[in-house]
Amino acid sequence: MPATMRTFAAYDLPTIAPHPHLVQNYRRSDVRFVSGTGSWLRDDAGRDYLDALSGIAVNALGHGHPELTAAIAAQAGRLLHTSNLFHVGPQEELAELLCAHSFAQRVFFGNSGAEANEAALKIVRLWGNQVHGGRKTRVIAAQGSFHGRTIGALSLTGNPHYHEGFAPLPPVQFVPYGDAAALTAAMGDDVAGVFLEPLQGEGGVIVPPAGYLAQARALCDRHRALLCFDEVQVGTGRTGKMYCHQWDGVAPDCMSLAKALGGGVPIGAMLTTAELGALFKPGTHASTFGGNHLACAAGVVVMKTLAAPGFLDQVVARGEQLQAGLKKIFPGKAVRGRGLLVGVDLNEAPGPLVQRALRQGLVVGSAGTTVLRLAPPLIITAAEIDELLARLAAAE
Ligand SMILES: *Cc1c(COP(=O)(O)O)cnc(C)c1O
Repeated sequence: MPATMRTFAAYDLPTIAPHPHLVQNYRRSDVRFVSGTGSWLRDDAGRDYLDALSGIAVNALGHGHPELTAAIAAQAGRLLHTSNLFHVGPQEELAELLCAHSFAQRVFFGNSGAEANEAALKIVRLWGNQVHGGRKTRVIAAQGSFHGRTIGALSLTGNPHYHEGFAPLPPVQFVPYGDAAALTAAMGDDVAGVFLEPLQGEGGVIVPPAGYLAQARALCDRHRALLCFDEVQVGTGRTGKMYCHQWDGVAPDCMSLAKALGGGVPIGAMLTTAELGALFKPGTHASTFGGNHLACAAGVVVMKTLAAPGFLDQVVARGEQLQAGLKKIFPGKAVRGRGLLVGVDLNEAPGPLVQRALRQGLVVGSAGTTVLRLAPPLIITAAEIDELLARLAAAE
């Protein structure tokens, strides 16, 4: 791999027209990737790119990871899918791994982040309706949050722009993120659930003030509301802990996972306690593909790799290296995040820099309206972080 090959003569990337048979709901960059190894991607003209986005925090083990690839190939040759009408071995193994590293005792598997949040929202509804006789109806979420695009997950998403044209949505009350006083004022005994990202990803890589999650936990306990952490982006090792909320020593009642969990194979999971998991009974909730053999076989490799001694320490070290380097490239700009989810608030739209970086052979992303987002594979090396910084400096 061209880890030492600096290609600062900018790539010429001619416009690629949108495909006439695809719905035009994405703004795509003018690149078509065809292969990848480790932290590197190659396009259809043979150009190499250092991947500092990981398919939006998905490819935690990078590209072509030998064990992940082998496990997927072996499972594909054995059995892809049987449905949840039957016991699924890899699903049981992955659930054990997920629970062993979290507060949870029960797991529901879906296929995406939105579905994981839908499952959590259904638990919250059952909690309000069955356990509390319908007296708990209110759901609270944060401004600037992102929870997905299905109607339920969209209703939790605190971004009016994403709501445009989709009214009426199920009612959700939004409070400013990171503001414990605002959450205190909004809480009441009629609140069934509070949804929070332990660190807002899409909203602009926003780290809440120390103590915020603990205060949310205390408020939910006082009012017997369920605390749901959306760790779709920040969970599964991204911040250097298996789950981001573990930095704060605060446990939720429900947690959503997806993005990195399958290392690129679509999978989502909603983790909860034994008591709350019992609210889902046969017929309450289901997913045809959820937790199938292939997706769970991938998830098992991801979880085992992340749980190996020293792996997450390495994520923390690379994150510190990345933040230190970014502060030099962007003096005076806010550089923030945790582990290998890092944002730089450019105070202007990040799109042009993202496109210039691409032409320097570097894949980066944006978050919110002014933030450059970096989420390299968790297996990125120290030398590759240096290369990332060199390419970004060349693009700046
Ligand atoms: C990406 C994301 C989602 C949505 O996940 P999908 O798989 O696209 O449905 C939900 N919550 C957070 C925090 C995310 O970052």
